[in-house]
Amino acid sequence: MTTAREEGLVTCRTCARVWPGMAEACGRCGARLSSRDALSLQRVWAWWIAGVACYIPANLYPMLVTETLTSRSESTIIGGAIDIAKHGDLGIALIVLIASVFIPVVKFIAIAYLGLSVKLRSQQTPVGRMHLFEVIEFIGRWSMIDVFVVAILSALVQLSVVASIQPGPAALAFALSVIFTMFSAKSFDPRLIWDYLPTRAGSRAP
Ligand SMILES: [Zn+2]
Repeated sequence: MTTAREEGLVTCRTCARVWPGMAEACGRCGARLSSRDALSLQRVWAWWIAGVACYIPANLYPMLVTETLTSRSESTIIGGAIDIAKHGDLGIALIVLIASVFIPVVKFIAIAYLGLSVKLRSQQTPVGRMHLFEVIEFIGRWSMIDVFVVAILSALVQLSVVASIQPGPAALAFALSVIFTMFSAKSFDPRLIWDYLPTRAGSRAP
């Protein structure tokens, strides 16, 4: 079994037409052609680091600043979740924790795992890693839900007598973290997963 790459062919990632390897642009849709995105991993790590860097202040700074007539309070993501749990809304506290702590951390770990597995030329089953990549991409589309956690929190607090509610500095950091993590996942070239594997016919992988 030979791969298109071994035959000197390259597929257009936009319209799926196959071209000779030396072609630089797709003759059908005009997209730029590359057999492998050589800078893919560098971009993945750059966005990944930016995402993690924004995630730290997102947790340390207040997500919400609420002012009542008599007092002013600030709550971080986890502090807010604990407050909600104390008020007896365990389900909502759980949603807040899953959306803003569990999912982002799992995404960071999963992208790092994919990046490292390619870097270290892992011989591990590519199918599992491909599924993992599909899951990260799927979550990415829904990631902005995390940001709406602020809205959920505001709605809850507004039920009591409150003069004003404003998003704290963590809200911006959190939104940036989500966006950078999505860019990181988008930069990953999934074709890299399939390189470095011994092919069934025993021929050398490129
Ligand atoms: Zn094309």
